[in-house]
Amino acid sequence: MDLYALDAEIFALEATLTSLAGSSRLETLVSLAWYLRQRQSSRALAYSKEANALLNSSTCEPSETHLFNAYISLTTAEIHWLVGDLDIAKNQAKLAHDLFDQEQDPIGLGDTYFLFSSIHRDLGEIEKRDTCLLAAIDQYKLAQDTTRYQIALARSLHNSAIRDPQKTNTLLHEHFDLSLSYPTEVNAWLTSAQAIIANKVGDMGESCRLHIQAHRAAFETGQIRLAILAATNAGDSFATLGDLDAALEWNGIALALSRSNQWPGSLAIALLQIGNALRLLERHEDAKEKLIESLNIQSKIPNSRTFAHTLAYLGDLSLDLGEPEQALQYFEQAADKIQTHDEPVFLSDCWRGQAIAFCRLEQLGEAEEKIKQALHIARAHHNIDEQIKCLRVYAELAKKLPALDYDTTQNINSFPHLSLHYQLEALALCNSIKGINIPADLLDNIADSYAAIEDYKTAFQYSRLAAKAKENRRLNEARNRATAMQVRYDNERHRADAEYHRRIAETEAKRAASLQEAGNTLETLGLIGRELTANLNVESVFEALHRHVDDLLDATSFGISLLEPDGNTLRFVFGIENGAPIPSFETALDHPISSFARCARERQEIILEREPGATGRFIIPGTVATLSLLYTPLMIGERLLGVMSIQSTRAHVYGERERSILRTLAAYGAIALDNASAYKQLQATLAALRETQNQLEEVSITDPLTGLRNRRFLLQNIERDAARALRAYEDKISDASDPLSNPADDDIVFFMVDLDHFKSVNDTYGHACGDMVLIQMRDRLQSVFRESDYLVRWGGEEFLVVARTCNRKDAPTVAERIRQVVSNTPFILLDDISISRTCSVGYAAFPFLPRQPHLMTWAQVVNFADQGLYIVKKSGRNACVGISHTPMDTVDDFYNLIMRHPQQAAEQGLIQIISHQIEDFNESIRAS
Ligand code: GH3
Ligand code: MG
Ligand code: MG
Repeated sequence: MDLYALDAEIFALEATLTSLAGSSRLETLVSLAWYLRQRQSSRALAYSKEANALLNSSTCEPSETHLFNAYISLTTAEIHWLVGDLDIAKNQAKLAHDLFDQEQDPIGLGDTYFLFSSIHRDLGEIEKRDTCLLAAIDQYKLAQDTTRYQIALARSLHNSAIRDPQKTNTLLHEHFDLSLSYPTEVNAWLTSAQAIIANKVGDMGESCRLHIQAHRAAFETGQIRLAILAATNAGDSFATLGDLDAALEWNGIALALSRSNQWPGSLAIALLQIGNALRLLERHEDAKEKLIESLNIQSKIPNSRTFAHTLAYLGDLSLDLGEPEQALQYFEQAADKIQTHDEPVFLSDCWRGQAIAFCRLEQLGEAEEKIKQALHIARAHHNIDEQIKCLRVYAELAKKLPALDYDTTQNINSFPHLSLHYQLEALALCNSIKGINIPADLLDNIADSYAAIEDYKTAFQYSRLAAKAKENRRLNEARNRATAMQVRYDNERHRADAEYHRRIAETEAKRAASLQEAGNTLETLGLIGRELTANLNVESVFEALHRHVDDLLDATSFGISLLEPDGNTLRFVFGIENGAPIPSFETALDHPISSFARCARERQEIILEREPGATGRFIIPGTVATLSLLYTPLMIGERLLGVMSIQSTRAHVYGERERSILRTLAAYGAIALDNASAYKQLQATLAALRETQNQLEEVSITDPLTGLRNRRFLLQNIERDAARALRAYEDKISDASDPLSNPADDDIVFFMVDLDHFKSVNDTYGHACGDMVLIQMRDRLQSVFRESDYLVRWGGEEFLVVARTCNRKDAPTVAERIRQVVSNTPFILLDDISISRTCSVGYAAFPFLPRQPHLMTWAQVVNFADQGLYIVKKSGRNACVGISHTPMDTVDDFYNLIMRHPQQAAEQGLIQIISHQIEDFNESIRAS
C-alpha cells in the first residue's frame, strides 16, 4: 500500500472489489479505506467497518490481522484529525503505532509519525510536528521507500519555507533535482514548498502558478487537506498581485471543499483568506463576519497557527474600522497565541499592531514600549520590511510625543524634526532594498514634515517623488494584474485539457472533481455574464462569446446566425473556424437540412454526432466536416433572435456540462445581443431625430426663394459677433491705444441693399420674372462677399449684408462694388429677355462710436444703414451712402436725432454722411 494513490488506481481497486467475496475482500477494503480517507471520509469509514467485521470472523495470520487493524486505526485517526477531534486522533494513531511497532513495520511506523506530525501541527506544537516528521523520514529511509521518503522530505521543506525561504530553497535544490520528474504525490509537496518560497521572495506570478500546480497534484492524489491549503495560498498570492477576483475564486474553491467535508482547520484558513480579500476590497463588515466565523470554527483547535493569524487579521481590520480598543485586544491575543510557534517576525507584527492601537488610544508610553520591542525583533532578524513599518509607527508616534526617547545621539528635540527623522530613516531602509517601490504615502508624509518645518523646497521635491512613486505603483499594479491574468489563463487551459482526460476515467473522485469544476464554472460564467450583458456593441458581443467558448469548450468552429427582420431568413453573421473567419451567408428558415434552420424552427437545442465520411449532410461551404455539433437557440423569452453553434472535429465531446455552459452563454448572449440591437436602434432613431431637427432648424433660418439667410438667422447669431467686436474695442481702449489706428479687422459693417424700382419688374414682366431677379441678386451678392459674411433677405427686394471681422475703412469700396455688380450686368428673365437694374446701398459700422462702443446697439446701427439707404432713395437712387461717426462728442438723444434729422446731425458734425460720386469710386476700385 502506498501513502497516496491516483484516482485511476482507486477506480481499479473498486472494480476488483466487485469480483471478490468474503475474506478475500479484506486487503482491498483496507486499501480503499486508506486511499479514500481524505477524498471521502464516509466511504472510507464504511469500508473500514466492513473490513473490521471480516477481520473478526476471519482466520488470518495474527501478524496480518495486526497490520490490517493498524491501518484501519490509522485511517480512523486521520479522519478524526481532519474534523478537528485531535485527542481521539492521537489515541487512534497510538493504537496503530503500537501494532506497527509490534510487527516491526517501518513503513507503517513512518505513516503513523507522518500523521502525528499533522496532529501536532494543528495542536500548535511545532517542535513535535517537526520531530515526528523527522521520525517518519527515518522510518521511510529504513524501509527504503523512496516515494514516501521524498514526500516526507518535501513536506519538511514546505514547513520550513515559511520561516526561512532562502535556506529552504538551498536545501530543496540539494535534495531534489528539479529537472527530473517526481511522482505526483511528491510533486504536491514539492511545488507547494517552491510556491511558498516564490511568495516569500516576492515572485507572485510564479507563486500563483506553483500553488495551483500543488493544488492540482494534491487533489489528484487524494491529499485534499493539502489541496485546500494550496488553493488558499494561491488565493493569498493572487490577492498580493491585486487580482482579488481570482483570490476570491481560489478561496471559494477551498471553502467549498472544506465545507463539504466540515474540516475546521481547512475551513478556518479558507475563511481567513476570504476575510483578507474582502478587507482589501474594503468590504469591512463582510470581512469581519468571515474572520469571526473562522475564529469560531477553530474552537476545537485554538492553538494552531491559523488561529493566531485570524486574530492578527481581526486586529488589522479593527484598525481599519477605527476601533483601536478592539484591535488592541486582538493583537494581544494573537501575540499570546503565536509565542509557541517560533515566528518572531509575526510576533513583531502583533506588537506593532498593539503599538498603533495604543497610539490611537493616546496611551503613548505603552505604544512606545511596544514599538521598541517590535523594532528590536525586526532588527535582530534583519527583516527590513518590518523595520520600515516599525519606523513609520515611530513617526506617527513622534507627532504626539515630542520627547520620545529614541536616539539621543541625534540632535533632535522636537516634532516635526523627530517625526521627519524616523520617516527619513524608513526611507533609507527602503532605498537599501533593491528594486523596491518606495511607498508613495511615506514620501507624502516626508513632504508634509518638510512643509511643517517650512522647508518648502525639499517638501516640493518629495511631493514630486511621491507622485512618481504613485505612477510607478500604478504601472506595477497593471503589470501584476497582467501576470495574474496570464496565470489564470494558463490554468483555464490546463483545466480544459485535464477535464478531457478526466472524463475518460469514470471514478468517484472524478465526480468530486467535477463538483469543484461546476462551482468554478458557475463563478466564471457569472463573471462572463456580467461582461457580456454590459456590452452594447453587437460585434463585441460576438467576439466575447467566441472568446469564452474558446476558453471553456472544445470548439473547432463557432458560429452565430441571426433571424432577419423578415422573419423567414437566417443570416450567418459571425463565424470562426480554427481561428479564421467564416464568410457570411443566408439560409431560408425552412431549409430542409440546415441544422441552424432546424434549431431556429424548433427553438430547441440540437446535438448531433456524425460518423466520419457520412454523406447527405449540410456543410457550410469551405468549412471542415465536424463530428460533434451543438446548436442552441438565442431567445429572449419567447422571441427568437437566432442560433449559436459550436462544433468539433472530435467525436462525442459535448456532454451535459458542455451543453449547460453553451446554454448559459446563449442566455447571456441573447440578452447582450438584444441590448446591443435595442441600443443600435435607439442610436439610429436619435440620429434620425437629430437630422430632422437640423433640417427643421435650417429651414427656419433660410429664405425659401433665394436660399439666403432670414431675419431669424441674424437674430440667432449677431449677438455673439457683436460681443466679440465689443471685446476687441474694449481691449484697445484699456490698452489706451486709439481704437481706430489699429489696422485689425474688428468691425461689423451692415449694408442695406434695395433694388430700385423693383415693383416695375413685377408689373411689366410678371411676378415670376421678379423672382428670377431676386435669385440673381443672391448670386451677385455672393460674388462680392466672403462665405463667412451673412447674406440676409431682409424684406421683399431688400437685402442686409453683414460683413464680419472687417475694417470700416473698406466699407465705401465694398458698397460701391455691390452697386456696380448690380448695375453693370443685365438680369436675364424668361425667354432670355435681359433687363438692366440698379440698386441703392446704405451702410454703417458697428460699434458705431469707437471710443464708446457700447453706446449704440447693433440694431440701432442697422437702422443707421437703413437711414443711409433712405437718403440714397431720396436723392435719386443707384448710389451708396454711409453713416459714420465723427470725432465730436455725442449729445443727448443722439440716436433719435440721427434717425429723424440726419442732415441736421451731419451739419452739427455729430455724424458724417459719406456719399460719393460714382466716378470717384470707379477710380478707387480700380486702384484697390
Ligand atoms: P424703390 O426703388 O423705391 O425701392 O421702388 P420699388 O418698386 O423697388 O419698391 P416698392 O417697395 O415700392 O416695391 C417693392 C416690390 O417688391 C413690391 C412687391 O410686389 C415686390 N416684391 C416683394 N417681395 C417679392 C417677391 O418675393 N417676389 C417678387 N416677384 N416680388 C416681390
Ligand atoms: Mg426697391
Ligand atoms: Mg423696398
